[in-house]
Amino acid sequence: MILCLTVLLVLGIAALAEAGMAKHWLCRKCGQRVSKESMPSLSGCKAGGTHSWVVDY
Ligand SMILES: [Zn+2]
Repeated sequence: MILCLTVLLVLGIAALAEAGMAKHWLCRKCGQRVSKESMPSLSGCKAGGTHSWVVDY
């Protein structure tokens, strides 16, 4: 779990550095955060089914 979060954090920082204008996405179901310009994939939500992304400012 901690390793998984660390990987996500590193990927998020890399995405931010690369894109510059990335939005912060938050899944309302599982709480996962992703930094990406466009909406992340909906599949693979830890809470079951699909992610429910909202832009988190
Ligand atoms: Zn989710």
